[in-house]
Amino acid sequence: MQSMTNEATPAPTPMLRAVDLHKRFGAIEVLKGVSLEVGRGEVIAIIGPSGSGKSTFLRCLIHLETVQRGCIEVEGRTLVSTDTGGECRYVADAEIRTICGAMGMVFQHFNLFPHLTVLENLIEAPMTVKGLRREDVVPKAEALLAKVGLADKRDAYPSRLSGGQKQRVAIARALAMEPDILLFDEPTSALDPELTGEVLRTMRELADEHMTMIVVTHEMAFAREVASRVIFMDGGLVVEARPARELFASPEHPRTRAFLENML
Ligand code: ADP
Ligand code: MG
Repeated sequence: MQSMTNEATPAPTPMLRAVDLHKRFGAIEVLKGVSLEVGRGEVIAIIGPSGSGKSTFLRCLIHLETVQRGCIEVEGRTLVSTDTGGECRYVADAEIRTICGAMGMVFQHFNLFPHLTVLENLIEAPMTVKGLRREDVVPKAEALLAKVGLADKRDAYPSRLSGGQKQRVAIARALAMEPDILLFDEPTSALDPELTGEVLRTMRELADEHMTMIVVTHEMAFAREVASRVIFMDGGLVVEARPARELFASPEHPRTRAFLENML
């Protein structure tokens, strides 16, 4: 009701909520209680030394790995939860697919299908996973290729593309599934320095369009300029999570300071 203006408006449902995630591989605990809440249209940069659990965290969010403890909610829908007795439960497989369908992921090594053309790479999942018809998905795929500046590579095979072009195809392919959240795992780390710019530019454009993004990156300028918040991870924990400008201007934790001194 309009008259209830004195009532506190309920906080909007976060796009993604992860609480106290624990992940171990055998005896090694890789995530030791990682939490993160992401609002609609936010761009989160995750930084931190190699081996700190950044990739594992993203992989748990999109269910490429299972957690042993914690809670993940995507747009208010529970993927996994842990009750007070410590019992960790995932929802049914069909529901997992629906929930994770809201997310797309871009990998360091592109992971394009080498035997498919660029266009076929884009339309494969919409056809096989969503059951859409070829004639319906091709125009959309062509529009996405134009958006990432690769309309002319429509019929090329990935092996004929530069690393930067491959990664832009990978981004277009993720977008073809119409995700609400995009996860990036070091999308420019495998690229020659002169090719990182074109990929970062595409990512900036997505941020400008208010795409919700979680980006693991070593590109500190990108993190500072594009991210709303920066998460510094070390040893399987979030050490510091702050607005980007604050974190870079005055890191609070000595480990964050030491890491940034090495990077800049
Ligand atoms: P980051 O992305 O920050 O470099 P990762 O999440 O890749 O860190 O890895 C964190 C730790 O987990 C590392 O010690 C790594 O060796 C270990 N790890 C990652 N994946 C596996 C796996 N599938 N099996 C065993 N150990 C793993
Ligand atoms: Mg990694």
